Amino acid sequence: SKPIHIIGGGMAGSEAAWQAVQAGQPVVIHEMRPEVGTFAHQTDNLAELVCSNSFRSDDHEANAVGLLHWEMREAGSLIMEMAEQHKLPAGGALAVDREPFAQAVTERLLNHPLVTLERGEVSEIPPQDWGQTIIATGPLTSSALAQSILSVTDESSLAFFDAIAPIVYADSIDMSKAWFQSRYDKGETEEERTAYLNCPMDKETYEAFIDALLDSGKTEFKDWEKDTPYFDGCLPIEVMAERGRETLRFGPMKPVGLTNPHQPDVKPYAVVQLRRDNALGTLFNIVGFQTKMKYGEQAAAFALIPGLENARFARLGGIHRNTFINSPRLLDQQMRLKNRPDIRFAGQISGVEGYVESAAMGLLAGRLAVAEAKGKTLESVPQTTAMGALVTHITGGADAKTFQPMNVNFGLFPPVDNVKGGRRNRKDRYKAYTDRAKADWQGWLGAEQ
Ligand code: FAD
Repeated sequence: SKPIHIIGGGMAGSEAAWQAVQAGQPVVIHEMRPEVGTFAHQTDNLAELVCSNSFRSDDHEANAVGLLHWEMREAGSLIMEMAEQHKLPAGGALAVDREPFAQAVTERLLNHPLVTLERGEVSEIPPQDWGQTIIATGPLTSSALAQSILSVTDESSLAFFDAIAPIVYADSIDMSKAWFQSRYDKGETEEERTAYLNCPMDKETYEAFIDALLDSGKTEFKDWEKDTPYFDGCLPIEVMAERGRETLRFGPMKPVGLTNPHQPDVKPYAVVQLRRDNALGTLFNIVGFQTKMKYGEQAAAFALIPGLENARFARLGGIHRNTFINSPRLLDQQMRLKNRPDIRFAGQISGVEGYVESAAMGLLAGRLAVAEAKGKTLESVPQTTAMGALVTHITGGADAKTFQPMNVNFGLFPPVDNVKGGRRNRKDRYKAYTDRAKADWQGWLGAEQ
């Protein structure tokens, strides 16, 4: 029968391909590397891990991602099988030896008689006569294809950037100038009421700071960045400053709801807020200060902030590409584009976050596509499973207006019933979630046959 076309041979595409060929369905995998690279991938292997080598917790009784591992193994996941074969000691986490892992995935797929691999970029949404297609081109989707995706969706439905704000070591902040306070002292506990660190600015300092932002030589945009829009809601500070000298003072630096205990009679002209970045309280990020300024210029501009003159940075700000579609708006429950049902999306581009979640969405998209090719429609996966909780979230559970890529977590599951006599303790609750999920996942897998 007609092959399923899978664009992108990463975490999601590799798993989608495996699921399809296991069900006897031929596939063509289109992978642009090595002809066209990305800034993060280093090899031409399928399923290359671009950053850490961890699949996170493997605990399937108390952790949502561990549960997702379990569900994928039950479904014969290639990614999980190869991860198991190439795992490294990492406590309760599943860490893998990345090169042999990716090589093993690649070999297993290429040695399968129903798999065809075509190297080269797919630069447009394929025409309908390709038949069923799964787009799994990931956070670093080539810009030509991203532009083409825009043409069948609409501008507000494709986001391109994840911005990160700088992180400061707490012990390098000058506490004779900064103070702890949440705006309007909001919060139930003392800890919440003092969750933020504040650095006050007078008018002169604010104006000097804005000048520094406006004068900063910005990081050169790479080719792919030139025509891509910013993701609304996380504009870099220097872009906010360009929109008007007062923009920041009415945005992240607004001086309201705060009283400076060092100078209670002086109302600050602007305030820079820092938020705890780790449980230990040793790191703080600067709220709303995502930036693509060059590192030296970031350091110089931040040194103008009272309290941060001698601050040391654990990480400076930056902007990374992360292409993903607004799935709650665009996809149906079968992961298909509502206005082009021959096309499914899977992986990070479908609005999940993480290696495992991406592979999981590939697994499901592969199975849904195979069923469709055989003239069947699979039941929706129960939301009580990790797989179902994720796919329900991206295909409609999430609010389309504020949609952001999502990790699997128990917050996405329908709550478990309480036991007689009150609320379960946490361990019992997680066990109840995972027991229910396992039974329901096995039920779904069984019904599918
Ligand atoms: P990918 O694994 O990236 O696969 C997509 C594939 O499509 C690639 O092989 C690419 O070459 C190919 N492709 C792209 N465009 C085209 C085209 N037009 N035609 C043909 N092929 C194309 N997640 C974690 O869990 N842990 C981490 O540490 C982590 N670090 C990350 C670091 C960076 C820099 C980025 C960008 C993401 C990171 N992620 C991490 C998030 C995410 O989980 C991974 O990116 C994951 O690999 C996504 O899986 P995927 O299958 O959706 O995309």
